[in-house]
Amino acid sequence: MNVHDTEKVVGTLFQQGYSQVETPEEAGLVLYNTCSIRDKAEQKVFNRLQNFKKAGKDKVFGVLGCVAQQEGEKIFDRAPHVSLVCGSASYPKFGDMLVQLEAGNRHVTGLSIDTDETFDTPFTRRDNPHRAYITIIEGCDKSCAYCVVPFTRGPERSRTSESVMQEARRLAAEGYSEIQLLGQNVNSYRDPSPAGWDFATLLARIAEVEGIRRVRYTTSHPRDFVKPIVDAMDENPVLCDHVHLTVQSGSTRVLAAMDRLYTRDDYMRRIDWLKNAKRRYSLTTDIIVGFPGETEADFQQTLDLLDEVQYDSLFSFKYSPRPNTSALQMEDRVAEEEKQRRLAIVQEKQRAIQIRRNAEMIGDQKEVHVEGRHHSLNQWIGRTTDNRTLNFSHPEADGLLGKYVNVRVTRSGPNSLVGEFTPAA
Ligand code: SAM
Ligand code: SF4
Repeated sequence: MNVHDTEKVVGTLFQQGYSQVETPEEAGLVLYNTCSIRDKAEQKVFNRLQNFKKAGKDKVFGVLGCVAQQEGEKIFDRAPHVSLVCGSASYPKFGDMLVQLEAGNRHVTGLSIDTDETFDTPFTRRDNPHRAYITIIEGCDKSCAYCVVPFTRGPERSRTSESVMQEARRLAAEGYSEIQLLGQNVNSYRDPSPAGWDFATLLARIAEVEGIRRVRYTTSHPRDFVKPIVDAMDENPVLCDHVHLTVQSGSTRVLAAMDRLYTRDDYMRRIDWLKNAKRRYSLTTDIIVGFPGETEADFQQTLDLLDEVQYDSLFSFKYSPRPNTSALQMEDRVAEEEKQRRLAIVQEKQRAIQIRRNAEMIGDQKEVHVEGRHHSLNQWIGRTTDNRTLNFSHPEADGLLGKYVNVRVTRSGPNSLVGEFTPAA
């Protein structure tokens, strides 16, 4: 989502006559987009700002994104060379802020999160020529005890279905064949216009746009992941064979402490819908280990869940205390070494699962969307509909980027597959 925010901000800059340079040294304006989801994000940002300062005098510096929102005006005190501090909820006003900077204002802020606006712009400067992001919903109305997002990205607000559909059609006309819908919780998408589409309806309609061959979405909150979403996916193979359904913990007790609004059984019911669906969907998730109060027994339940679900991949994190969040007040902190131990166990278990699952694919034929080329290996990089990286050999050494190609899987590893091009029969 941050990458796409940057694409939209850069598009606004281009629209206002700016052009892009390769290094901070060459730039007149340096904007730093930031994330504060984990770790000591603030400290890293201040260190980096200090380094930017060395890039030379007479430059205008700005901090964007979640650290900007979280630290606010304090940034001007700690880094007086910064002239703009702007959180993502204020991006719709970014063009006006540029005008203020150009007029010489050296204390420009966009820090209100009290908004019902979304950042819709036709000027997005896209980094990938074949796959495009579309934000459908911004902010978050949940209050997961560990999470800083509601404080940094503001309340949930959906774009109108008309605006989303227009963007999808425009992208298809420009030659993009793969769309990724974005939101902190795409499942709670609700069209604010009278049409009133829910997420399942939006998915089904986007999949019908001519020229679009693949549609992905992220992220899904299990509470709002309803059966019609699976039905819509089953109906149209343009909707990719992959669901990222974040679980965070396998223990109902910990899920309650996290305020996740579902139990382990609720979650497993959704996994069952997907496992009993018409197509085989790859499943991925996010796990947090060492949330305050997580016992060895709770942790064991997370490990059991991994065995039960057999995820195709996952992101795992050590719990990281974040400003403003309710978990900050919780006692029973898990020691850092213990968090590290649990993280290593999760990762080792998952690695074994992935080695096994990927090996089962050897011999399969898969369609890949070609995303890049490893020149040194003489291989193309492809992505399957179920979101696996499949590197493959092909007689052509150029001209395949953005194409869809059939590949037979010949080898597998924990994180990717290898194969060879097979001409259509
Ligand atoms: N909205 C998504 C959801 O509800 O699943 C998650 C968005 S968050 C940007 C991405 C992931 O970061 C979360 O799923 C969680 O695993 C992780 N995360 C968020 N806050 C965290 C924290 N304080 N410590 C560790 N991991 C965290
Ligand atoms: Fe954070 Fe929870 Fe919202 Fe996801 S649903 S962004 S984890 S508060």
